[in-house]
Amino acid sequence: MSKVKYYYDHETLSYRKIQRKKRTTVKYVALFMLASALFAFLMIFIASQFIESPREREISRELSNMRLQYKLLNKRLDEAYAALENVEERDNSIYRLYFEANPIPLEQRRAGFGGINRYKKYEGYDNSKLIVESNKRLDVLEKAIVVQSKSLDEVAVLAENKEKFLAAIPAIQPVSNEDLTRMASGYGFRTDPFTKARKFHYGMDFTAPRGTPIYATGDGIIERADNSATGYGKHIRIDHGYGYVSLYAHLYNYNVRVNQRVKRGDLIGYVGSTGRSEAPHLHYEIFKDGERINPINFYYGNLSPEEFDELLKRASLENQSLD
Ligand SMILES: [Zn+2]
Repeated sequence: MSKVKYYYDHETLSYRKIQRKKRTTVKYVALFMLASALFAFLMIFIASQFIESPREREISRELSNMRLQYKLLNKRLDEAYAALENVEERDNSIYRLYFEANPIPLEQRRAGFGGINRYKKYEGYDNSKLIVESNKRLDVLEKAIVVQSKSLDEVAVLAENKEKFLAAIPAIQPVSNEDLTRMASGYGFRTDPFTKARKFHYGMDFTAPRGTPIYATGDGIIERADNSATGYGKHIRIDHGYGYVSLYAHLYNYNVRVNQRVKRGDLIGYVGSTGRSEAPHLHYEIFKDGERINPINFYYGNLSPEEFDELLKRASLENQSLD
């Protein structure tokens, strides 16, 4: 309800109604509203420069939390790196060293990614550096774990080969060692039992009653089991691989056939006196790359140091061989 306003007219000496044009009123109202709106916008703009809105406060809180979390993640990355370094150190200085593999250099273990920039998508923000650095570290860590894992695969293969090698080469006495006096004659110059001449004896003789079991001294494949080699009589040859062959001569009999696979300790035949032999005994030889070598160094598998000393003494006696 609008109030009616009056004014005093000096000419007519009376009060007269103030007549205002409707259009003018509308104009005033519009101007006032526009000015108010401008002022409000101005105030909001100024305020927004200095005062955070609740939403902005929320976002900035979230951002600082995110920065904190990134820092914490980087700390955990440090710990992961330290743990990996420990494994790498053991890998290089124990495992790889033990199996005679070259250590993996640090440059190879810490190699990054060359070529295109993988981190372009993180660039152009205030936090880009933090995000890029964190991603880079994680990538290098992932790669280092792969390198370490491959190294362990390699070590596992080397270990398996070494185990196979150790199982293959001759390492025990071919007859039971309960009585070392069975070792009758060693490798070296000995008196020939038939001609009585001084002659090189290329193996070791173990005396034992006919029928005493003979054992394979290492894993391998039967290369020969026959009676057709001069002097040896019935004999067996085992190919152990890695250049090693063992030979068992003058057998009474054998219970293996050619190409049969045998394990160390398998019973392969029995002591006899076939071929050029004076009395029942086992003549034992070891070949390395086709050359006959002294079998004395291949009994470490089941002899104590004292027993080995005793055997060594007996083997070096320059007596008469049984051939
Ligand atoms: Zn002999």
